[in-house]
Amino acid sequence: MEKPIRVRFAPSPTGYLHVGSLRTALYNYLYARKTGGRFILRIEDTDRSRYVAGAVENLLNTLNAVGLNFDEGPGKEGTSGPYFQSQRLPLYRQHLQQLIAEEKAYYCFCKPDELEKMRSEQISRNQHPMYDKRCRNIKPREARARVEAGEEHVIRLKVPEEGAITFFDIVRGEVTFPWEMVDDQVLMKSDGFPTYHLANVVDDHLMEISHIIRGEEWLSSVPKHLLLYGCFGWTPPRLAHLPLLLNPDKSKLSKRQGDVSAEDFLKKGYLPEALINYVALLGWHTGSDREFYSLTELEKEFSLKRITKAGAVFDVEKLKWMNSWYIRNLPLENIVARAQPFLKAAGIAIQDTLLHQSVKLLRERVTLLSELPGVYDSFFGELNFDDEQEEIISQPGSQSIYRFWLEKLEEQKSWNESDLSSLVALTTTRLNVKGKNLYFPLRLAMIGQTHGPDLPALFEIIGRDNLIKRLQKCLR
Ligand code: GLU
Repeated sequence: MEKPIRVRFAPSPTGYLHVGSLRTALYNYLYARKTGGRFILRIEDTDRSRYVAGAVENLLNTLNAVGLNFDEGPGKEGTSGPYFQSQRLPLYRQHLQQLIAEEKAYYCFCKPDELEKMRSEQISRNQHPMYDKRCRNIKPREARARVEAGEEHVIRLKVPEEGAITFFDIVRGEVTFPWEMVDDQVLMKSDGFPTYHLANVVDDHLMEISHIIRGEEWLSSVPKHLLLYGCFGWTPPRLAHLPLLLNPDKSKLSKRQGDVSAEDFLKKGYLPEALINYVALLGWHTGSDREFYSLTELEKEFSLKRITKAGAVFDVEKLKWMNSWYIRNLPLENIVARAQPFLKAAGIAIQDTLLHQSVKLLRERVTLLSELPGVYDSFFGELNFDDEQEEIISQPGSQSIYRFWLEKLEEQKSWNESDLSSLVALTTTRLNVKGKNLYFPLRLAMIGQTHGPDLPALFEIIGRDNLIKRLQKCLR
């Protein structure tokens, strides 16, 4: 019988969520949703030297912000917790002891400087640097006595010395590694903590993970993992290794946080919808040309079969293009709500109708929400004109329009959009101007550019008093 589907995202909390990890999380999430399985979040925090304070909280916030809700994980206990590896140490110890007792793993007493010497000698002989297995020959009883006497040690896996291993990967098909390429992997470090390899295998088994979906950089670890499954007599999960992410020049995607961190993208004003949509297409396709998918649509469409083998280019320009589409096309309410923090931070304190109307107009002009305060400047900030604009403004025809408008605007205090439409019509008949001779000078005075929204719509946002000031500024 097929095992129930249980997948996991197993990040090491080292600071921020790389877009590659976001893709791993997303594909696991989508596979669980598509199949009615469970999505588990496991924090792989056994490497104390890489611990970063606040990283887990940051990770949880980011997953939540993009809508990847897990079924089991920190703060959401399920049947196979705890979900922090640092809280599972006795489990790893127990499994290590089993491997030692069955002589499938051994104590190694080599000191760091000895290992370093071994390594540099191998490199100078043009050999692939690997542990030379010298401690494998120590008799188990002698090794145990040395451990009991307090000698510093690690525990290593006994990897076969010849032959090869072949396994099946859902994305890559059949993959073979000769054992001579595989090191006697350290399973427990000298600080007593397990390495990733041991903890990962033990947990995937105990958490009853059915499919491992993760980045291609882990493919070369599969032989040791499968060896471990065999040592314990367990059936391994099925495997799917996702293609590498590349820079547009096809080099491996940068690790510079500012360029690749999911939370930084959100902070810069990329929408979660755009980020998820874009990342979903990095190595997966539906077979059609369609490019826009909501998370709910992805949950229905996703399949492991359509993951590609070739590296996927992460192109921030394409992401920006997608983001501007979402800014223009999501419900206005939604964009207004998300625009507010950016406007507030820039000291733009408009609200209610004005806020809605202005966002409605201005969302057409930005790629990122963080650009909104800048475009608001054209409504509320100081306008400066270049020579070409100055020429239009100072024409006698334009000057008459400005004077006529000032006169009319001063006549009454309260103005609405339809009053302004009437004023536009009146200007046409009284001054005998129309088309660009009418609109260009007025738009310039209002927003510092000749093209843009209708005058009455602009007026709604700018308001009478502000417009009076702006017209006065254009009198020559
Ligand atoms: N902790 C590993 C990472 O940070 C997990 C790899 C895996 O999914 O097995 O990527």
